[in-house]
Amino acid sequence: MKIHEYQGKEILREFGVPTPRGAACFSVNDAVAAAHGLGGNVWVVKAQIHAGGRGKGGGVKVAKSLDEVRKYAGQILGMHLVTHQTGPEGQVVRRLLIEEGAQIAKELYVGMVVDRVSQRVALLASSEGGMEIEEVAKHNPEKIHTVRIDPMAGLDAAEAARVARDIGIPDAANAEAVQILQGLYRAFVEKDAMLAEINPLVITADNRAIALDAKFNFDSNALYRHPEIVAMRDLDEEDPAEIEASKFDLAYIQLDGNIGCLVNGAGLAMATMDIIKLYGGSPANFLDVGGGANKEKVTEAFKLMLKNPNLKAILVNIFGGIMKCDVIAEGVVAAAREVSLKVPLVVRLEGTNVDLGKKILAESGLPIISGNDMADAAQKVVAAAKG
Ligand code: GDP
Ligand code: MN
Repeated sequence: MKIHEYQGKEILREFGVPTPRGAACFSVNDAVAAAHGLGGNVWVVKAQIHAGGRGKGGGVKVAKSLDEVRKYAGQILGMHLVTHQTGPEGQVVRRLLIEEGAQIAKELYVGMVVDRVSQRVALLASSEGGMEIEEVAKHNPEKIHTVRIDPMAGLDAAEAARVARDIGIPDAANAEAVQILQGLYRAFVEKDAMLAEINPLVITADNRAIALDAKFNFDSNALYRHPEIVAMRDLDEEDPAEIEASKFDLAYIQLDGNIGCLVNGAGLAMATMDIIKLYGGSPANFLDVGGGANKEKVTEAFKLMLKNPNLKAILVNIFGGIMKCDVIAEGVVAAAREVSLKVPLVVRLEGTNVDLGKKILAESGLPIISGNDMADAAQKVVAAAKG
């Protein structure tokens, strides 16, 4: 689960990481009032969306008067902000962060992710901050320093100090940088993050280290123990189909193809998408109905797939293990009737009670195309989507 920058900075402050003072705002008047309240004579008006690259897309502006704060807040609120992470349609800006301006001498990068290979949290740090870290990784990989943190010892001060020196943080700001790195690590672990990023971490003209941006992504499997993070969820930033899916405990990811896939088990779902691709088709979604798929879940899954205007055909690929094939077949038939299905439907069943399941499909009177195995079903659905 992702959160906004201003929420990320609240968490960072809790863990002793210095950030600029600021306030989240929902209107132009609020923005001007917030700038007035902060005082000073330079402010930054920042679009709050769950995507990076806002600066390049025109979503971050430095204002030198309250009139400019008003002007920029007016421009940014409501705009369709397009960045390399939003897709071409962009994301509508509904919230702003108004902050005191910082005098930037240097922009650096620090981030943490879970490194599955070493089974540790990896700290990534670079002197090349502000820009896309993916570009640095591609063209100047030697400029990214990586430390895989021992979970028993945590990030010790000496190691943090060394990383800070490696990325060119001046000695005068070293102690503060250590505090930032250790705070980021504690936040990462205690809040069950999957990614935590400060880009840029800036060194100011007077040698202070400050987190100028904050990005977090939390492990949704751990959200049950973090109600304070769940409260930060912003549904406006999430795909409506995926929100709907989460209500019914379906794992659904919208994709850009035209063949809907309804599968039980994530591995089988991946294999199904692969085989559709192999036969020249393109999946419209990833959808795992899980082990306990009943009629209600299958019906909701059909409804979700049918909301996609690109949908041309559906492939149901179910392995009946705990869930028997006849129960699934009844669910599919009932769901197809309830949504009065108009697109071709290919069904491949395998496992417990498969013959009974196939019989139920055949006797339903619905124009269901039966697939004998995965390859056969995939070829049939690809053909159906083309025809
Ligand atoms: P992102 O583009 O979505 O990652 O948004 P950031 O919060 O990282 O802001 C993008 C860029 O705006 C930063 O790299 C800075 O160069 C600039 N910026 C952000 N805040 C300030 C500020 O307080 N003062 C100045 N001068 N520039 C800022
Ligand atoms: Mn940034």
